[in-house]
Amino acid sequence: MKEKKITSSKEQTDTSTTSTEQMGAKKPEKIEFQAEVAKVLDIVIHSLYSNKEIFLRELISNASDACDKLRYALLTHPELAKDTGVFKIILTPDKKDKTLTITDNGIGMDKNDLINHLGTIARSGSAEFIKMLTGDKKKDMALIGQFGVGFYASFMVADKVVVRTKKAGNNMGYKWESNGEGSFTITDDKDAPFGTSITLYLKPDDLDYLEPIRLRHLVRQYSDHISIPIVLKNDGKEETINSASALWLRNKTDITPEQYKDFYQNISHAFDEPWMTLHYTAEGVIEYTALLFCPTKPPFNLFQPDRKSNLQLYVNRVFISDDVPELMPNFLRFMTGVIDTRDLPLNVSREMLQRTPAMEKIRKGIVRRILTELKKRSEKADDYKTFWDSFGIVFKEGLYEPSEFKNEIAELCRFHSTRGEELTSFGDYVTRMKASQKHIYYLTGTDLATMRVNPQLEGFAARGIEVLLLTDPIDEFWVQTFYEYQGKKITSVMHAGDDLEKIKPAESDEGETLQKDKADALIKQIKTILGDAVGDVRTTDRLTKSPIALITPEGQMSMNLERLMRAHGQAINFASSRILEINPRHALIHKLADLVSQNKDPEKVSDTIWVLYDQTLVTEGEPIKDPAKYTERLSRFIMAGL
Ligand code: ADP
Repeated sequence: MKEKKITSSKEQTDTSTTSTEQMGAKKPEKIEFQAEVAKVLDIVIHSLYSNKEIFLRELISNASDACDKLRYALLTHPELAKDTGVFKIILTPDKKDKTLTITDNGIGMDKNDLINHLGTIARSGSAEFIKMLTGDKKKDMALIGQFGVGFYASFMVADKVVVRTKKAGNNMGYKWESNGEGSFTITDDKDAPFGTSITLYLKPDDLDYLEPIRLRHLVRQYSDHISIPIVLKNDGKEETINSASALWLRNKTDITPEQYKDFYQNISHAFDEPWMTLHYTAEGVIEYTALLFCPTKPPFNLFQPDRKSNLQLYVNRVFISDDVPELMPNFLRFMTGVIDTRDLPLNVSREMLQRTPAMEKIRKGIVRRILTELKKRSEKADDYKTFWDSFGIVFKEGLYEPSEFKNEIAELCRFHSTRGEELTSFGDYVTRMKASQKHIYYLTGTDLATMRVNPQLEGFAARGIEVLLLTDPIDEFWVQTFYEYQGKKITSVMHAGDDLEKIKPAESDEGETLQKDKADALIKQIKTILGDAVGDVRTTDRLTKSPIALITPEGQMSMNLERLMRAHGQAINFASSRILEINPRHALIHKLADLVSQNKDPEKVSDTIWVLYDQTLVTEGEPIKDPAKYTERLSRFIMAGL
């Protein structure tokens, strides 16, 4: 027989048609479900599943497959065209009978197909599902969401299902009928039209699937990009309710910027223009088409912890999931779009998505493309600033997350710096480094204006050494894991080490350095006065204008991070381990040292040191521990001055 040779992309069509037709049942023939199917159905029918609506997606997907199969068969069997119309999938809600019918004019099924496909476990997803069954209905039901059970999902919403079908090229049609309990019947149905129609007798609780508004919504949500028109037949009127075109599978040259924009706004529920549109098909080990967008403005929920990337995964134009964290690393979570691949099975499960190497390969491919495109766009500083202002704060997480693209990510980062108002990159910073400068320096904080006048920067300014000013909370984290760029250590200004000693200040209007013995005596005195308010006291090269500064020891949380953590309710305080640095060339320090060595005015010395200390806290943005004492001391100075 002719249809013996019909093959499809998905399966080899059964070849035993002759024998089945000889079986030709006139009366309903009762057939038991395969034991595994009965098990699945038992769970489907008798448990409550919160996401029942997916039944429609499954049936539409099957209908679309059936059309694809016939389309494919026509290539080698053009004579089948006489049984074929324009492909479409029709949804017919019937409020009177309380039925929803899904009709397609695809390949159809013969009797053998019906027995084999709607009586046994055909799909690999269901087979896996069976393996995972625990016997606990609640747990087992949850598994359905992960695996999908294809056609059998109909029984979530229907207490009876009738399938009428006639296979292309056949004379005989059949009616399959079941309430999902143990068995089904098959009856000859000569008048069945070519293709398949599946009628669901809806359960009393599920009559909302008769509402056109609900159907439209579900189709838009799950099946919009099925390439075959999905038609809603309501009150005799027909209305196509999907857009029936997978934009991403069309030729780039055929798509207008307007169409890209509409599509972007549609899938991301956004109103801005895409700042970047990436559309390509990857060929090689894994084939996939990607249509990706970077928004212009940050979406409102960018920082919500449960925010997922707005990326949709399709397998062969069929929507699979928009929750595929495997596909997009966190630092690119602002990207939205569609990935469509043929290299995953349609019934791919959550577990499978997590462990299949295909996903990993796609992810790498996507990230590489995005970074390459960003690199191109970064050459125009103004344009790139738009991106950076919106997403830089998220993008920098890439310096801190594990990634094989660390260097590429680093090159794309931009920072404020002491050099001026313009943002700078690591690369540009390096070209401006002093000849003997070994490190890339940074200061963290929250307010740019305050940071620019931070005493910690004085020594760097005097030596013409540029310092990056890092103002985002995330900066505190990546600086602890991203150690160097082009071999240059990324170092806090507080831990400058010998760079400052080796590089001489440009103009030396600085005073003389305090003698060692005088400095030591002063340091000893300061330690006694401040007690455990500081961990250590020492001299520094870092300061030029200010008499003292406070720093945190290397390896310990910066003061900025400490404040951030406290703002988030963490009870931490490392004050006792901070280091007080004194400027040995400052006139005030000289004066104090004189007083200490001559053992004069101990109260005044103590007041001065406390006031200096408290003022340093203020410039750092730290609270003063005892504001009353601070005011008292200050008042004494003012009185003396008057
Ligand atoms: P899957 O679609 O993953 O194979 P299903 O349980 O949904 O699993 O369907 C089982 C099989 O039944 C399909 O593979 C297909 O051969 C057949 N089938 C289901 N619906 C249709 C349809 N509308 N037209 C033709 N064949 C269908």
